[in-house]
Order: sequence, then C-alpha cells, then structure tokens
Amino acid sequence: MIPMVDLRIQYRQLKSEIEQQLRRALEDAHFILGPNVRAFEEEAADYLGARYAIGCASGTDALQLALAAAGVGAGDEVITTPFTFIATAEAICYLGAKPVFVDIDPDTFNLDPGLVEAAVTERTRAILPVHLFGQPVDMEPLLELARRHHLQVIEDCAQSFGASIDGRFTGTFGDAGCFSFFPSKNLGCFGDGGMVVTDSEELAGRLKMLRNHGSSRRYHHSIIGYNSRLDEIQAVVLRAKLKRIDGYNRGRRAAAHAYRERLAGLPGITPPHEDGKGVHVYHQYTLLTPRREEIMAALGRAGISSAIYYPVPLHRQEVFARQCRGLSLPVSESVAERCLSLPIYPELESEQIHAIVEVIESHVTS
Ligand SMILES: *Cc1c(COP(=O)(O)O)cnc(C)c1O
Repeated sequence: MIPMVDLRIQYRQLKSEIEQQLRRALEDAHFILGPNVRAFEEEAADYLGARYAIGCASGTDALQLALAAAGVGAGDEVITTPFTFIATAEAICYLGAKPVFVDIDPDTFNLDPGLVEAAVTERTRAILPVHLFGQPVDMEPLLELARRHHLQVIEDCAQSFGASIDGRFTGTFGDAGCFSFFPSKNLGCFGDGGMVVTDSEELAGRLKMLRNHGSSRRYHHSIIGYNSRLDEIQAVVLRAKLKRIDGYNRGRRAAAHAYRERLAGLPGITPPHEDGKGVHVYHQYTLLTPRREEIMAALGRAGISSAIYYPVPLHRQEVFARQCRGLSLPVSESVAERCLSLPIYPELESEQIHAIVEVIESHVTS
C-alpha cells in the first residue's frame, strides 16, 4: 500500500524531541500565545526573511485576517484563481467581498498574470495569487500591475512553505503571505494552524489585534477582531519541523525528479512543468492525462493511492453558480478534467516511485 502522504514517518523520527517539549509546554501551562508561539513566530520570520510573522488558527484564518488587515471589506473585489482549494475564495467571501476568478496558466496551473489586468475594476482592492502545489507564481508582473492600480497583494502560501524565486521565499513578495500548517502541508502540525507574514509594521500591528479580539492591551478593544490564535502545542511541533524543512523539501524535490525521469516520454502523460525560474516544493505531484480514470483504477488495484486536486474549478462550484453564470475559464476547466496527483512526501522511496510508474507505464503502453 502506498498512501498519498504518510505522516507517521516524521512523527516516529521526531517523537522523543516533540514529546519532551510537549511535556514542558504542558507543565508551563502558558497555553495561549505562550513562549513556543513567540519563538516559532521569530524562527519562521527569520527563516522566510520577513520582518513579522503572526501565528493564527488555520490557513483559512490567515487569509481572512490578512485580507481584513489590508482593508478588504463589503463590496470590494479580489482577483484570484479558480483552480485552488475553496478556502482561498471563502476567506474573501467572509469579509463580504467578491472573488473575481481569472484563468490560469496551462503549464504552471497558477493565475495567468497576463489575464489579470482585464479583470481590474474600480472596486478591485486586492490580488490573491495561490502558489499552487508548491510552485511559485510568477510574481513580478503581478506586483507591477498591483503598483500601477494601487492594489494589495496577498499571497496564498498554504502549499508553498519553502518555495522561492531567486532565493526569495513565497510569502515575502506581496503585502502579506498566508500559510497553513494543516498536517499534510509541507510544514504541518498536529491539528490546525496558520500564519501571516509581512514586512509592514502597520499590517503586523493590525494582524496581532485582529487575531486576538481586536485588542493589543488586555480588555481594551479598538476594533472588532477574531479569536484566531496558534496554540502552544502546535507551535512545539512546528518548531521541531521548521528546523528540518529544507531536508523535507529536498526530499519532495528528489521524489519529483525521480518521477520525471521515469515518466518522461510515456504516451498521454504530461508531467508537471518546472521552468527553473523558481524552486517548486511539490506539495503535490500533479500530472495531466486524458486517461485519468483508468489510470486511477489501475493504481487502486495495485494498492496505490492517487487523487484529483481539483475536480471542479471554483467558478463551476454550486456555491458560485449564480455569481459565475456564463463565465468560461477554459484552461481551468480543461486542467480540472485531466489532472491527477500521485503520492508525494519527503520519505517516499525510489522503489515506491518505480512501482507507481510501472503501473502507469504498463497501462498506457498496453
Ligand atoms: C490548505 C489550504 C488552505 C486552507 O488552510 P487550512 O489550514 O486548512 O485552513 C488555503 N488555501 C490553499 C491553497 C490550501 O491548500
């Protein structure tokens, strides 16, 4: 059996370190915004090269808090990709703003920067690119466009912790970068967790208030905020894993490299694109094939998991049916019909990759 991701391996490797630190945290009993959260925020900001990191309760909350801190509110429009997890658009809707979906690049599956300008209206307040599957978005044209139109740029880095362009990490290009520490993400904890990074002192101040009931001094509330904090238990886990994140991402890239070598030239299989512009950290290994259902069935018979991220682009979801009636985003629709994600995690072994590709090979060449 080969799962999409095996979280037990890292737990076994880090068990003694994490359990020792967890015991200390439990004995200290500083459960909310305690010393491990503060230390993790400093370590993560330092690693990413951001001035401020603000922990919160989830990646979805990170997006909502960042949009709120950036002043996005009722009636505003936020330009984003339809080929992402629903949380990207939910965060926009929570604030009463409207997600405006723009089609994706057929190679990277990320927002196509060349199509964004035509979607800007006088209500547009922000652009929300997603570094999908761990592949960095081409940020330069988006940032240039945002400067010209005075738009905020909020990055969804839920799948891209450690991805970079020219040595600069995703999350540090826009006004704020939003991370998820959901267990299966590249940097994952043992429950829900999230974080926003920013270089702006003003945004950081607002984010700290927003996550803590609109308060910077206890029982003094300047704005309506939220209860959205990273907890001490998750911070312990994240501190242990952050120390090893480079190795984990190297393991994912090595697995992707092994897949690419073995999949190269197979008929009807388009391996994920890597243009060498940025460092892709392969949160998912997602190829395109017109024979997806048969390949999934063949893999399943061999005890190998596979998954479709994502089968329905957001503009085709029931929840956006009214808003998006008649909207055609052909690249997203076509990719959603052909995308197939294979197992990938840092510890995936080359024999396992070999076995996976063998099933695909014997299916597509027979
Ligand atoms: C996982 C994910 C989120 C949401 O993160 P949670 O921590 O699960 O709330 C947002 N955007 C994308 C692209 C994601 O993959």
